[in-house]
Amino acid sequence: MKAVTIMAKRTAGIHHITAYAGDVQANVDFYAGILGLRLVKRTVNFDAPEMYHLYFGNETGSPGTAMTFFPYDWGRKGRIGGGQVGYTTFAVPPGALPFWENRLERYSVPVSRTERFGETLLRFRDRDGLRLELVARGEGPRSKWSFGEITPDNAIMGFGGAVLYSTAPAMTMHALEHVMGLERIGEDGGMVRFRASAGLGNLIDVHAQALGRGRGGPGTVHHIAWRAADREDQEEWRACVAEHGFHPTPIVDRNYFTSLYFREKGGILFEIATDPPGFARDEPPEALGEKLMLPEWYEPCRERIERALPPFEVRLPD
Ligand code: ZN
Repeated sequence: MKAVTIMAKRTAGIHHITAYAGDVQANVDFYAGILGLRLVKRTVNFDAPEMYHLYFGNETGSPGTAMTFFPYDWGRKGRIGGGQVGYTTFAVPPGALPFWENRLERYSVPVSRTERFGETLLRFRDRDGLRLELVARGEGPRSKWSFGEITPDNAIMGFGGAVLYSTAPAMTMHALEHVMGLERIGEDGGMVRFRASAGLGNLIDVHAQALGRGRGGPGTVHHIAWRAADREDQEEWRACVAEHGFHPTPIVDRNYFTSLYFREKGGILFEIATDPPGFARDEPPEALGEKLMLPEWYEPCRERIERALPPFEVRLPD
C-alpha cells in the first residue's frame, strides 16, 4: 500500500460563481445592462443543453470575475439557506459606491447599506431575488469593459468575495482552511473571514451560525468554483480533496476550463476549475458573447438546441 501524505494546497480564490435564474432577458438586462458586466459567453448548460449557460465578467471574463447563470423556467423559486452562497460580493474601485447607489435606485433596485470588517457594502437583489453586495476595494485589476455611463473608474472589477451559508459552519470553515488553503483572518458581526491570495475573489466570509438547508432554484447560487492554475494542478487538487475524505467527481471538460466538483460537509457544492484556456478559446476576444457557442459534441444538434432556446439581446434597459 502506498503511503498517503495529505498535501497542503492553496487556491488563489474564486474562479466563478454559478446561480439559477428565471427569465433570460431579465437576467441579461440586470447583469449586462444595469451592472454593466460583459456577457463573455453564451452557451448551454453542458449537462442540460435545453437551457442557456450565460457567463458575465470583466472584458475577458477572467478567473475571479465570472458570474454565470442557468436561466430557465425552473417551475419554482429557490429558497436561500444553508449549503449555499448567501451573498455574492462584487468589488468596485474606491469611491464608486455612490455612483452605484444612484444607478441601482434609478433602475428601481432597492439598496441598503451594511458594514462588515470595517467596510461599507451596498446590498441589493437581482430580479430573481439573488442576494448581492458591492464593496469598494483598492486591490485587483480594474475592468476594461465600458457600457453606457459605466467606465473603468466605476465598473465592477469582479468578485470581492462571497458570504457562505452553511448547515455545519465548523465543517465549512475546516474545508476552506485545510482543504482549499485559505487563511482565517478574523471575526466580525457573526461572520468569520478567510483570505486567499488573488487580488479579486479573495475574501470569503462564513456565517458562523448554522442555517437550515436552502433549496435550489431562481434566486439562489448553484455552486462556487475555486481556481486551479492548470490541469496538472487540478489533478493534484483532486488527490488532495480525496485524501481529505471528500468524493470529487472525475475531471470534466467545460470547454473554457476543466472542472471537478465535490460537496463540502456544510452542504455547499464546491467546484475546482482551471484558469486556462478561458473564453477566447472559441471566439475572437472582440466578439465574445455575441453568438451561441457550443462544444463540438453538441454541434451536430445545433439546430434543435437553438430552436428550443428563447432569444434575448444585450441592451441598455429603460
Ligand atoms: Zn461552475
